[in-house]
Amino acid sequence: GGSGSASTIKQVKLERESELRIEVGNDAPLRLRLLNGTAEIFGTELPPEIWLNFPPRLKFAVFTWYGATIEMDGATETDYTADETPMVSYVNVHAVLDGRRSRAKASSPDDSGSSQGPRVIVVGPTDSGKSTLSRMLLSWAAKQGWKPTFVDLDIGQGSITIPGCIAATPIEMPIDPVEGIPLEMPLVYYYGHATPSNNVELYKVLVKELAGMIERQFTGNAESRASGMVINTMGWIEGVGYDLLLHAIRTFKANVVLVLGQEKLCSMLKDVLKSEPKVDVVKLQRSGGVVSRNAKVRQKARSYRIREYFYGLSNDLSPHSNIANFSDLFVYRVGGGPQAPRSALPIGAEPAADPTRVVPVNINRDLLHLVLAVSFAKEPDEIISSNVAGFIYVTDVDIQRKKITYLAPSAGELPSKYLIMGSLTWLET
Ligand code: ADP
Repeated sequence: GGSGSASTIKQVKLERESELRIEVGNDAPLRLRLLNGTAEIFGTELPPEIWLNFPPRLKFAVFTWYGATIEMDGATETDYTADETPMVSYVNVHAVLDGRRSRAKASSPDDSGSSQGPRVIVVGPTDSGKSTLSRMLLSWAAKQGWKPTFVDLDIGQGSITIPGCIAATPIEMPIDPVEGIPLEMPLVYYYGHATPSNNVELYKVLVKELAGMIERQFTGNAESRASGMVINTMGWIEGVGYDLLLHAIRTFKANVVLVLGQEKLCSMLKDVLKSEPKVDVVKLQRSGGVVSRNAKVRQKARSYRIREYFYGLSNDLSPHSNIANFSDLFVYRVGGGPQAPRSALPIGAEPAADPTRVVPVNINRDLLHLVLAVSFAKEPDEIISSNVAGFIYVTDVDIQRKKITYLAPSAGELPSKYLIMGSLTWLET
């Protein structure tokens, strides 16, 4: 619009192999559309001319291989164009993976080795663009007709479900730039904390359970097996974090390790994995567009994720408030109290508290504001090995009447009476 008009519409012309990096403002959504040319957001092509609505705070880039004109409507926190991106190296990785998937598909399904498509694991420090690269590889593969399995081991900022979980889901279509990972039938295990140091043993056990489950699914599904998986990991790469990375690489039998922006980590992994000759360790450049988030921003992001689980991305879901008797629900936590580190004990001694012991919890006011997972377990001793159906949020505990009020995604009875508590709380705002 001309001078004096209140229009906030702005056009941006993008040259080939460049991207428009955007941080949507904190308070209002942003509308954006592709006017001409072709462009994609993290691997998913934009439809021509259709306005898309991006929620507040979202950070993303519109990338074009051959040139495009973008139209934006609304205020942004930042928006700028960058012509230096690592996208060519990323898409080259995709091409190699694609070749491996085709070879896996062409080989006899009886040969469980050669019919297995690539198992890619993305590692690197926090804010190196791991989730974003995972997403691009998944969307490019899905566009080609593959159904890769996305595995998210990041309990802090995972993109499949709420924080505190490890999860997996098949990706059958390029990932929607606004809605994110589709949530039809994710396979979710509840760890219950936002950092693995709360209970490292439990984290490892759950990673093993998830890997075993996917392994079984692949056995019966040649298409999934040939498509392989893309595994996103935590940004914790030092000390125990490094051990957990190695544990994940081995447990999932990853054969392609993509290391984002970390020489040291890359050479360490190359070194230890060179005796495992079928593993390729590849160093990739971090994108300059990746936005760093401090501890406070991360904490906020976790809170928004939980809110999104119950209320939807744009308040489009209406959770139900339900009331249950104390006697109808059985709450458990896993592991007893803080443990002494193994290194502090005499050689051969086991830490006293079993980190994977399932302990019943009395229902009292301590449960207020906790997020509890609803287990698929049929017996308490199946709790660790069972995935979860979903989550509830405790809004009131009435000791006198022995009633607990909770928010659930839907009305009606819970799929199970076994609930798992961790340290994950949420304050509804
Ligand atoms: P990590 O998984 O390593 O912690 P992410 O992939 O989640 O990092 O990236 C951190 C943030 O940066 C995310 O909000 C993501 O959407 C954003 N981001 C990543 N790449 C770009 C880019 N090229 N332009 C703009 N924002 C980006």
